[in-house]
Amino acid sequence: MSGVGDVKPGSSEPPWQRAGVTYDDWRDWRWQMRARIRNARDLEAWIDPTANEREGIERLSDRFHFVITPYYAALMDPNDPECPIRRQVVPHIAELEDPLGTPDPLDEVAHSPVKNVIRVYPDRIAFCVNNECALYCRFCLRKRMVGDEDWAMKKAELSVALDWIRQTPEIRDVLLTGGDPLVFSDERLEWLLTALRAIPHVEIIRLGTRLPVTLPYRVTDALCALLARHHPIWLNTHFNHPRELTAEAAEACDRLLQAGVPVGNQSVLLGGINDDPATLKELGEGLVKLRVRPYYCYQAQLLEGTAHFRVPIERGVELFRKLRGRTSGFAIPEYVLDTPHGKVPLQYPYLRGREGDDIVVESFDGHLWRERNPL
Ligand code: SF4
Repeated sequence: MSGVGDVKPGSSEPPWQRAGVTYDDWRDWRWQMRARIRNARDLEAWIDPTANEREGIERLSDRFHFVITPYYAALMDPNDPECPIRRQVVPHIAELEDPLGTPDPLDEVAHSPVKNVIRVYPDRIAFCVNNECALYCRFCLRKRMVGDEDWAMKKAELSVALDWIRQTPEIRDVLLTGGDPLVFSDERLEWLLTALRAIPHVEIIRLGTRLPVTLPYRVTDALCALLARHHPIWLNTHFNHPRELTAEAAEACDRLLQAGVPVGNQSVLLGGINDDPATLKELGEGLVKLRVRPYYCYQAQLLEGTAHFRVPIERGVELFRKLRGRTSGFAIPEYVLDTPHGKVPLQYPYLRGREGDDIVVESFDGHLWRERNPL
């Protein structure tokens, strides 16, 4: 497994030298946040943007502008516009051609009893604690709020949401998401987790964060110690491609696991990035090697500006069918479609049906098997 710190082909210097900082600064998550790439000129230090990328950067600046950490930029292939890292974060004019996409396909705003609390299920909520991320993914389901000040949560607004949770005893599971909750300072996180932990009916707290992928230096010993004080804490992160499984990301996941935080992965099926069985297999097996459980793979939503990423669901089902029986079962995430009414598993129908007292199933390699199954 290589790290971002490795010298890349075509480059004679490690990335911190390219960025003009010391190795220690490069590994400081706060430096990475301050030094984020926000315009075409900064991006040119890492890649030579194509005409389509340059036009995308310009024309999307007032809709969904871009931000990239230097760490993640160092993973991009400067010679390949189809690079799966680059395509996830660099704007492209293809985002302007999407007749079907809408800003809020899951109708999350309509499911919000108070600002930034989304309740689809009776016993759990997604609590969008902030509007900021280390970088902005071009396919982000919450692009309506990411980087937009209107969706920021002031401390008083967080308190209103905490009051709502306090007054809603059915809520036993709180997912902190956003944006990205780990962009918060340790102090703000400590305050928030302490407040949640003081609510007797909140049994588990989950974190949805892409920082182990996009800014793994955020996972410091201090952060892990903080999380361990508030167990049970679960964490789901978001690797989409095996090239993201760097030595630095592995170190971040290991730190979390050592602190007793179970780490899962939720990816998105993205056309041209991970929509082939070999890539999905390598990703699943790579995650399992890190002791990260592949949990869900989402069908890309009908979200504005993402038509070029969407894969027809039937093809998605076939892709995951091709993995079944060809790798460890727990290296295969559940392929799901999220809807305003909850998640729907998308699976090849292995259960073929009943014939009298028998049930007929199909194995991964196409064999039909009949088994007695009396009513
Ligand atoms: S890290 Fe998550 S919330 Fe942030 S932009 Fe990417 S997909 Fe959206």
